[in-house]
Amino acid sequence: LAGICVIALLTHILLAGQRHKRQLVDLASHDGLTGLPNRRRSVEAATAALQQAVAEHRPLTVGLIDLDYFKMINDRYGHAAGDAVLKDFARIGRELLRTSDFFGRWGGEEFIVVLPDMPLDVAMLSIERLRAAALTIKLPEGPEPMRVSFSAGLATIDSGTKTLDDIIAQADVALYEAKSNGRD
Ligand code: GH3
Ligand code: MG
Ligand code: MG
Repeated sequence: LAGICVIALLTHILLAGQRHKRQLVDLASHDGLTGLPNRRRSVEAATAALQQAVAEHRPLTVGLIDLDYFKMINDRYGHAAGDAVLKDFARIGRELLRTSDFFGRWGGEEFIVVLPDMPLDVAMLSIERLRAAALTIKLPEGPEPMRVSFSAGLATIDSGTKTLDDIIAQADVALYEAKSNGRD
């Protein structure tokens, strides 16, 4: 009986240790608020997807998404409402994008999408669908009506953009352009 007890105890300790390790790995790679992969994990995933696309000569588009006037959303409705918007947007993105697409929290109110096998024109349609869905996010009653919109910059593999840094830099320029041209 003592032997069985010892084996049961050791099994319990082993399983708890494995569970704890999984939790630590998850904490290190995911964002606590939205549950999306964090920036560190996003860089890893995007780099891997890019390397595969280049090796197999397949298209791939990367998008940087930045929610518009987010500071104003926090100021008008409160930080908790801002948090709820981030969570809603994360859920909508996960629901709308394909399972093969990668969707991560790049930081703050910024997100990254990696769309394998999508040339730029098809990726535009996908992001446009996401844009329309984000507009339906409910905000609390406020002083003035306001909707959740975002601006995005997309960049795709071409002869001049091979590394993730190249593509991110190009997407960032496009995002800046979208912001300058009226957002949404
Ligand atoms: P723009 O349209 O130019 O992007 O304006 P913006 O207000 O969205 O951009 P800005 O960079 O001025 O402000 C981003 C705001 O996002 C400021 C910051 O407090 C807020 N923010 C970042 N992370 C979080 C978060 O986790 N929760 C909440 N509630 N707010 C956040
Ligand atoms: Mg921003
Ligand atoms: Mg913003």
